[in-house]
Amino acid sequence: MTHSTPAIVILGQGSLNTARRIQQVYPAAQIHGLAGRVEGADRIYQEFGATLRELYRQDTPIIALCAAGIVIRTLAPLLLEKGAEPPVLAVAEDGSAVVPLLGGLGGVNGMARDIAAGLQVAAAITTSGELRFGTCLLNPPSGYTLDDLESGKRFVSDLLAGHSVRIEGAAPWLAQAQLPEDPQARRSIHVGSDARAASANELRIYPRSVAVVVGAEGADLSKRIRSALLEADVAIQSLACLVAADDRMADPILRETALELGVPLRFVASTTDLGELARGAIPEAKIIATAHDLAIAVAQQPLNLSAIGRPRGRLAVIGLGPGAAELMVPAVKAELARATDVLGYETYVRMAGPFRDDQIQHCTDNREEMQRARHAFRLAAEGRSVIVVSSGDPGVFAMAAAVLEALHESDDPAWHSVDLEILPGVSASLATAAQAGAPLGHDFCVMSLSDNLKPWSIIEKRLDLAAEADLALAFYNPISKARPWQLGRALEIVGQHRTAQTPVVLGRDIGRPGQTLRVTTLGALTPEQVDMRTMVLIGSSTTCTFARSGGGEWVYTPRWYGEKPLG
Ligand code: SAH
Repeated sequence: MTHSTPAIVILGQGSLNTARRIQQVYPAAQIHGLAGRVEGADRIYQEFGATLRELYRQDTPIIALCAAGIVIRTLAPLLLEKGAEPPVLAVAEDGSAVVPLLGGLGGVNGMARDIAAGLQVAAAITTSGELRFGTCLLNPPSGYTLDDLESGKRFVSDLLAGHSVRIEGAAPWLAQAQLPEDPQARRSIHVGSDARAASANELRIYPRSVAVVVGAEGADLSKRIRSALLEADVAIQSLACLVAADDRMADPILRETALELGVPLRFVASTTDLGELARGAIPEAKIIATAHDLAIAVAQQPLNLSAIGRPRGRLAVIGLGPGAAELMVPAVKAELARATDVLGYETYVRMAGPFRDDQIQHCTDNREEMQRARHAFRLAAEGRSVIVVSSGDPGVFAMAAAVLEALHESDDPAWHSVDLEILPGVSASLATAAQAGAPLGHDFCVMSLSDNLKPWSIIEKRLDLAAEADLALAFYNPISKARPWQLGRALEIVGQHRTAQTPVVLGRDIGRPGQTLRVTTLGALTPEQVDMRTMVLIGSSTTCTFARSGGGEWVYTPRWYGEKPLG
């Protein structure tokens, strides 16, 4: 079983050093530090119990640097809720002890050994089967699947009670194990892709050694694949992947079928004959032709998927939000974890990290948007999983439109078959507005004041009309060294339609270290108070402010316009 990146959770500053050493074992893991107690963690949390339980519920492996008892008491209420659990480990603050607590089937002992090796101590392994046999029989290596966990547990306790066992089929990972082997044993570990049901004294392990090569089209594909496997006496648990011709990469039925069967899709160059396609894709396998316009390829060993054709490439254009990890949407986090290649302006790529060693970062200058978009398609068309990062939302003065423009301009079918998705983020105007209250609570207009990509005359025209229409205004790219006078001119135009008392919000580096939020008025606003890292929000005629307890002001634009509604 493979899990997502672990979270390292610490309660005090004294654990940070050990946490950093563990991070060297899991470079993508983030260190979560308790607010007010830990400085320099990757993320801040407010409440230990709630944080740990949330991570556990999300199936995130947990490495907690505190007493084992604290972790146990914290997670105890959740333990009965769940069948499968993520690995959970307690590590002594000084790194002197590594204790796997939960998630034996999720590979917690393996993690404990890896962490212990990193800290140069011994892991506190307590699992009897594993200690006695030197392997966890119920957690076969990748490429193999256990048939049934409950009967597996019985099987292991039989062996612990003294029964002997024989191995049928190829189980190379058991060669090093110390099993009570006897060729005459009644109990057997059976490794194979044949479809018959397990007998009472048998532990069945399926090698993922079968590919179904799909020629068939149309609905009910997964049902047809199941019956074809059944007729050929091949176990569905051994299915490792579906293979199809690459002109069907964007076929939604194939995609749904693979999802439903829980296996990846691989694509190979199209040929007229299905058998030929199968032999070309998996030369080591025996090919069984079926009546369903499907070919079944059965190998002796688990298939090495990376050697079979290539996957459909993916290109995700993501928004990081303003900066703080808490304001990044979960879909973006998941996408960051699966990416093979990350493209973007260096500052944003760094903000999106840390990345694993196997993830390639392609940092570029901010201005090369179209080049970056084409580069992303070239990589994705090779079958890679590519991310293009923007801050805030990718569709707001950022990369999403450039990526779509690059695709629109291309007639390369490989680019058009890429699995393209745009994942939204919290845009700077919304993040700033939320901190100030609700200045954009009624109709508003979003503009970039940069005249790099549009004539200044159109900016003036839009400003004039938007201000006249009494829309609240949100200015992105308000000013820069190369554009020093434009903001002053913009404020002049807005001033023709708004009073000097109109509330203005300036948000600088919102959601980033050193953020500042300032509430002022149109009359008091000067371009010197603004730089290119600032978001400028200008109220409409109804926008108002009042004091907030604790200092500062709330700013909001009421939902109504004209006569205030009764009630
Ligand atoms: N796609 C981004 C906007 C990119 S344009 C988004 O949706 O937020 C860049 C401009 O956005 C900057 O000049 C600044 O005006 C604004 N901006 C971006 N991040 C900001 C932040 N964290 N705080 C304040 N303004 C920000």
